[in-house]
Amino acid sequence: MAMPPLVAPGPPLSGAERARYARHLTLAAIGEDGQRRLRAAKVLVVGAGGLGSPALLYLAAAGVGTIGIVDDDTVDAGNLQRQVAHRTQDVGRPKTASAADAVARVNPEVTVVEHRERLRADNAAGLVAAYDVVVDGADNFGTRYLVSDACAMAGKPDVWGSVLAFDGQLSVWWAGHGPCYRCVFPEPPPDGSVASCATAGVLGAMCGVVAAMQVTEVVKLITGSGEPLVGRLVIHDALGASTATLPLVRDPGCPVCGDAPTITSLVEVADCARPAEVGEPAPLVSVLDLAAELDGPRPPVLVDVRESSERAAAAIAGSVHIPMAAIRDGSYAGQLATGGRVVVHCATGGRSAVAGRILAEAGYAVRDLDGGIAAWRSARLPVVGATGG
Ligand SMILES: [Zn+2]
Repeated sequence: MAMPPLVAPGPPLSGAERARYARHLTLAAIGEDGQRRLRAAKVLVVGAGGLGSPALLYLAAAGVGTIGIVDDDTVDAGNLQRQVAHRTQDVGRPKTASAADAVARVNPEVTVVEHRERLRADNAAGLVAAYDVVVDGADNFGTRYLVSDACAMAGKPDVWGSVLAFDGQLSVWWAGHGPCYRCVFPEPPPDGSVASCATAGVLGAMCGVVAAMQVTEVVKLITGSGEPLVGRLVIHDALGASTATLPLVRDPGCPVCGDAPTITSLVEVADCARPAEVGEPAPLVSVLDLAAELDGPRPPVLVDVRESSERAAAAIAGSVHIPMAAIRDGSYAGQLATGGRVVVHCATGGRSAVAGRILAEAGYAVRDLDGGIAAWRSARLPVVGATGG
């Protein structure tokens, strides 16, 4: 669904600006009007790291007028493999200072605002309020929740990206127009269940792939071009050279943007800690193990906890549909034999982690599909639906 431009156009371009942005001006979807909107826009980049570094360079080159950079870290030699805004001689400098210099080298007309601090519950709302759109380049779950929550409460779009190893994901969370991060990832993963970039490694160029797509979404939002990635998740698998787009929907039970919000002021979320939820996390099952069990003599009941529109696009054959709302209010009981073997899945594993706890607490021998239908599709396993095959 197309959306109106996020930012009103500023004054007419100068001759020098016309020359600099000539390749934008010839694009019908941007043109002089769009370039004036970009120059009037204020974009906050959270993190001047793997995603933030290339994002800053492209935002500057695109002529975004004001770029804010939030980071409290200093440049380390181990950053240089992917954090392309920083140079060898910047090692030891604050990342905001190094990134501000990089932006100035690309485009001295851009105003850079350095926020040399960590995004926290007590400063996030003020930071987000000063900008039109936020690019989330955070490398930890706690900051991602804060960015999403602050944006949801301020009604601003959160252009989120994530990279790990050879895989990348991105979406635009925008409460009021589509789901927020919590709708899809309702709680941080249990401690130790998810590898971080520090332990798993990351292909440097993957950061560039995802960051460039994030900036593309920012430009689309500011200029009102195309169809923003609201309510959709892009999953890029570099080793398989494949990209999939999954539909996502708002969770009416979301604690931040749902019908009856329970989180109404910003709170810190621990990176990997377990929030107050029922039960223990259900054990994970891999997509390959599940595929073998479904073909075997005693297949488990596979429960898809996503919404109908997500299932219509792609579903695993034979799965039973019990959306999260029914899992939460207990109305699923008639659909599942007590004590039966159950596997729950969602898009990427966020919602199913919660569903797994609830069903385990209710006495089911439940397991949680690791990575959801996104991992299933990455493994080239078949799906049924509009985008199946
Ligand atoms: Zn939400």
